[in-house]
Amino acid sequence: MILSARVKNAVESITLEVNEKIQKLTDEGRYVYNLTSGQLPFKPQVPFIESLKKQINFLKSYQYSPVSGFPDLKNKIIDEYAKKRNVDLRKEEFHYDCVISNGSKHSIYNVLGALVDPGDEVIILTPYWVSYPEMIKFWSGVPVIIESRAFDAYTPDIDNIRKMISPRTKAIIINSPNNPAGISYQDNWMKEFSLFLEENPSLFVISDEVYSDISYFDPKPTYFYQHNEKLLEQTIIISGISKSLASTGLRIGYTLAHEKIIKAITKLQSQTTSGANSLVQRALVEFDFSQIEPYLVPLKDQLRDSSRILREEFRSAGFPEAWYQTNSAFYYLLDFSRTPYFEERYGQTSEDKAYEICSDILNEIGVAMVPGSMFGYKNSARLSLVLELAPFEEAIKRLTAFLSNKKRE
Ligand code: PLP
Repeated sequence: MILSARVKNAVESITLEVNEKIQKLTDEGRYVYNLTSGQLPFKPQVPFIESLKKQINFLKSYQYSPVSGFPDLKNKIIDEYAKKRNVDLRKEEFHYDCVISNGSKHSIYNVLGALVDPGDEVIILTPYWVSYPEMIKFWSGVPVIIESRAFDAYTPDIDNIRKMISPRTKAIIINSPNNPAGISYQDNWMKEFSLFLEENPSLFVISDEVYSDISYFDPKPTYFYQHNEKLLEQTIIISGISKSLASTGLRIGYTLAHEKIIKAITKLQSQTTSGANSLVQRALVEFDFSQIEPYLVPLKDQLRDSSRILREEFRSAGFPEAWYQTNSAFYYLLDFSRTPYFEERYGQTSEDKAYEICSDILNEIGVAMVPGSMFGYKNSARLSLVLELAPFEEAIKRLTAFLSNKKRE
């Protein structure tokens, strides 16, 4: 079969492979501590489920929605977002509008389709969400990667971004709170980033904010455009309901940007997927968004506890330098190269051993993680912090014992 080069050159997600391995071990009767989850392990809140139930009775819920989404929902999202960020998205000179898509992954894909011509460069910052480079390549763009280090809590230096700007640079994607690092870029970074953008007015910023409601240590995430509202003119905001409403399967994401970009995305969407599903959109029109915050309180309590377990276990295992403070989203990126296991086994190698280490850890101590290579960060693994506390603690004890070369009975 002759498949397109586009598809042949795409990198397949490793999650599938890891899940198959977990299934195999489980079938063999082994208990696996699964730290791979990219979604919340519980149902959405009752008021949202009630809104869905109510809308199920209406014909409108089963028919095509307008391509860019129902106008009442789009307006509500713009107003909610303006309130949440304390910025004036209704200011006439910004010409802001909204388009609703089938999940924020789809939103990002559409934005790139609307902006990127073959050979255009899009800057992404490590560690990055796995799909960014692949989506850029699908549109024949070139991902330009800026490194960061665990030592700096995975926050890249803005001077390094500045150095990579070329005449072909079209956009930069930032993701704060970050998957997989579990941190938000601090306000002083956002301030510096806003100054950098002022220097580069033709650069678009795609601000992926899907985790912005999940912040469990102060300060709460802030954004560069809050330092200078005028930057909204070059900003494209992405968010959705997958994480805030624990609804990854309902597939609703949205884009807020200048109306010209929204029109271009709508055109693209009209010839590909059409509008997002009507039932969920109608339910969202009715749902009171202010209920998201109280709903997330127990989750944030759990995330604070999980992050405390990480700190204490890393400290007592004797490699505190592998630890950094997470504060948002629900992940931790473990840098293996800062552990005794790595130093003894691989020394100063510059090769990426993440797959090998994750596979050894899964086979030997039954702890499943996603290799960090997927996120552009070698010799690391992403741990999800949403497993219940007791098994999470046991998994971390096993992991730290393994990485400090001690056996745990
Ligand atoms: N952006 C980031 C950083 C993510 O982690 C995810 C999902 O894990 C998405 C976007 C896409 O979310 P969805 O398409 O479910 O809205």
